[in-house]
Order: sequence, then C-alpha cells, then structure tokens
Amino acid sequence: MTVRSIVRIDEELCNGCGLCVTPCAEGAIQMVDGKARVIREELCDGAGFCLGVCPTGALSIETREAPAFDREAAEAHAQAQPTYITQRCFRCDAGEDRAVLLPCRSQGHSLWVCTRCLPVLIHG
Ligand code: SF4
Repeated sequence: MTVRSIVRIDEELCNGCGLCVTPCAEGAIQMVDGKARVIREELCDGAGFCLGVCPTGALSIETREAPAFDREAAEAHAQAQPTYITQRCFRCDAGEDRAVLLPCRSQGHSLWVCTRCLPVLIHG
C-alpha cells in the first residue's frame, strides 16, 4: 500500500450512464449492478481521464492509501477484457479513425469533440 491519487466514485451521484468506462484505458472502471465501480484499485492510475465525461459530478480524485498502480496488470487486464467503445464528435460526427477526440462539457452534457471542431467551440 502507498499514499497516492486514485479515482473516487460517489455512488449516490452515479446514475449508471456508463460514460466513464471508455476513457479509462486501464479498464479499472466497470459497471456493477448499475453503478460505476473501480473493480481493482491497482488498475487505476489516478490520471482522471474519466472525470470530464461524468454528467453528475460523481467522479473525483482523492489522495489516500491504496495499492500501488500496477502497469503490467492494467495492460494485461485491458487486453483480456476490452471495454473500448468508439466515440464520435458531437458536431461533425467524425470518428476516431478520422480525428483525435477530446472529452468536453457543454450545457450540462458530457460530449466528445474532435480537434477540428474544437477551435470553433473556443473562438465561436
Ligand atoms: S459517468 Fe458518472 S454517472 Fe455515469 S456511470 Fe460513470 S460515475 Fe456514474
């Protein structure tokens, strides 16, 4: 065990939408009984890529004692149980095969936007 950053999921706020599963490249988050859960703490690197997509604010990063992040275990887990779901840009519908996508928040919604449409959002 070590003191480090790790994802915290507020079960009361989680609505079970599942949006946080895909951004977790390590496969640390999965849906269990309709709620998001960190299934094995050693798979969570605490990077927080899942935070931006949560529509309810259920996800946060906390610093506490937890098993150290195990990169080899995370890579093995991600290959054995792929949870990857392809995403599309909410403006132009480009998929990841055509553009780099980033998570963003707009008017209370969690969305994916491609790097070609992002300047329009920034500059209008
Ligand atoms: S994105 Fe937020 S509300 Fe949706 S499943 Fe994950 S923690 Fe729950």
